[in-house]
Amino acid sequence: MDNSIFDDRAMALCELSQDMLFHKVPVGRILYYIDEPLKAGRDAARLYSGKDIHALYSENGIGAEYKPKTASAFGVMLRGQAILGADGCKVEIYMESIEELAKHSCFGGMPGLDLESALKVHLAHEFYHYLEYKSGSAITEMLDSVETFKLFGFTRKAKINRCSEIAAHMFAKCLIGLSYMPNLYDYLYLISTGKLTAGDFEEKISGLKQLAGV
Ligand SMILES: [Zn+2]
Repeated sequence: MDNSIFDDRAMALCELSQDMLFHKVPVGRILYYIDEPLKAGRDAARLYSGKDIHALYSENGIGAEYKPKTASAFGVMLRGQAILGADGCKVEIYMESIEELAKHSCFGGMPGLDLESALKVHLAHEFYHYLEYKSGSAITEMLDSVETFKLFGFTRKAKINRCSEIAAHMFAKCLIGLSYMPNLYDYLYLISTGKLTAGDFEEKISGLKQLAGV
C-alpha cells in the first residue's frame, strides 16, 4: 500500500462517511465538515503540547478504569467509553480490545502501535470529549446543520455528529505524536483480521477523495 493516501483528510473522510447523515451533506460542503474539525482537534492539542496524557487525567480529576473484558454495543467492539457527568468524569478502558488493536495495527509495512501507544491514543481521544463536555461547545454543535428534510416551507435540520470524532482523532494524533490519524488503525485492524481487504479500503478512500474534490 502507498501510505501517503492515508493523509488526515482521507481519514477524516472515512470517519465522516460513517455519519448517519453523510448522504445529506452537500458535496460542496464536505470539506467544511472535515477541515473545521481537523482544525479544532489540532488547536486543542496545541494547548496541551508536551503534556503526558496520564498526568492530564489526574490533573483534571478524571478517573481511568481499566477493565479486562470488552463490552460490545450493537455488535461493535468498544475500546472504552467516557462517562461524563456533573458528579464526576471517568473513562472506562477495555484492555482486551486495546491489546487486540495493538496486535493487529501493523499491516503492509505501516508502523504499528505498541500497547502503551494504543492505550494513550484511546485516553487522548476520550480526553478530547471531556474537553468538549467541560467547555459546553462540541465542534459538532458549532458547525452548520444540514437539511435533512424539506417540503414546501418546512425544513428539518440536524448536526453531523461524526465531526466530534474527527476532532478527537486529530487531537489524539497531535498529542501522542502519531504519523497518522488513529482511526487508520481501526481499518488496519479490520484488514489484518480479514474483515476488510486492502483493495476495498484503498478504493473507499479514493472514492471519498474524488467526491470531496481533494
Ligand atoms: Zn469518540
